[in-house]
Amino acid sequence: MSYFQPEFTARSAAVRVRFAPGVRREVAAELDRLGLTRALVLSTPPQSDSAMAIAEDLGSRAAGVFSRAAMHTPVAVTEEAMAHVAEIGADCVVAVGGGSTIGLGKAIAYRTDLPQIVVPTTYAGSEATPILGQTENGVKTTLSDAKVQPEVILYDAELVATLPLAMTVTSALNAIAHAAEALYAQDRNPLSTALAVEGMRAFASALPRVLEAPDDLAARGETLYGAWLCGTVLGQVGMALHHKLCHTLGGSFDLPHAETHAIVLPHAIAYNAAAVPDLLAPVARIFGGTEPGAALHAFATRAGAPLALRDLGLSEADLDRAADLAVTKPYWNPAPVNRDGIRALLDAAWGGRAPGT
Ligand code: NAD
Repeated sequence: MSYFQPEFTARSAAVRVRFAPGVRREVAAELDRLGLTRALVLSTPPQSDSAMAIAEDLGSRAAGVFSRAAMHTPVAVTEEAMAHVAEIGADCVVAVGGGSTIGLGKAIAYRTDLPQIVVPTTYAGSEATPILGQTENGVKTTLSDAKVQPEVILYDAELVATLPLAMTVTSALNAIAHAAEALYAQDRNPLSTALAVEGMRAFASALPRVLEAPDDLAARGETLYGAWLCGTVLGQVGMALHHKLCHTLGGSFDLPHAETHAIVLPHAIAYNAAAVPDLLAPVARIFGGTEPGAALHAFATRAGAPLALRDLGLSEADLDRAADLAVTKPYWNPAPVNRDGIRALLDAAWGGRAPGT
């Protein structure tokens, strides 16, 4: 199958990417290559051991460790970290963790243009994008800026092997969501489509192997490879209904990021498959079946993913407001976004039913 398009505009970022089990021990070599000598190592509180281990490897090149990164990049936490950056005279940040830690590194880079070396430990894909979401006074705003794009990414399968299985599954579906929406993005191009298809294939092949043997480094490595491809696609093209629904549910109802993506994805894709069946055909081919939404729902069910928004604490009474918010300032979408259709979609996702039932 060819992804050729007769006309397109594409963009890609100059990012250095290294893949290898144990490659986290190469952070020092990467700093030397860039002439950097005073790194601030970042993590969330539960991953402070990983941050400390990297700081130890860095020796005198580690100027400090800041282990208070939090979900949705609160500006108050960034300001605390910025004070630390100034105090120790950091000349770069090293982020070890998932999207929350990487978000903090990006927020610092946005304010200082310091280089970022990122060691991702989930599949969310933030490391591969110039996008930063920040939260202040309960409001999340998103921006895109070249300064935000990390310069070096070190993908280490050994680190992701500690990701608990429940989060492994939801984070994988979060990554797959970037690729699935990239297939119909208005600004898609042959490269973004090829990356998206290969990213989904990597997860379809490797996730079941990871679930059988969570320490299988070859399988973990292939899922990280999928995360890199899906994250790269997220940085290249625009997202649509699925991401809008997840931002609404996360922002206004405080639902958890990866779990919400996992539950909503089959429903959003089924909704759009009615409008662009040919563009979404690779989803059905990769995950097995004839209907893209049903194929994703079956894959998520086999992987043991959460299936119902009600299990995340969303009440049935919230569905009307969620539908109202989701159709307000909608993102561009291949299928018309109408309130009744979105309300029905949310109802099926809330109850954990298969898409369209
Ligand atoms: P996360 O970074 O919030 O991690 C969730 C929890 O899992 C944290 O406590 C973390 O410390 C822990 N954890 C992470 N990796 C682990 C591992 N290997 N072993 C054990 N524990 C581990 O979760 P996430 O889903 O990666 O990131 C979500 C955030 O990232 C959201 O705020 C989202 O908006 C943002 N995000 C941004 C982009 C972007 O391009 N800007 C892309 C994707 C996600």
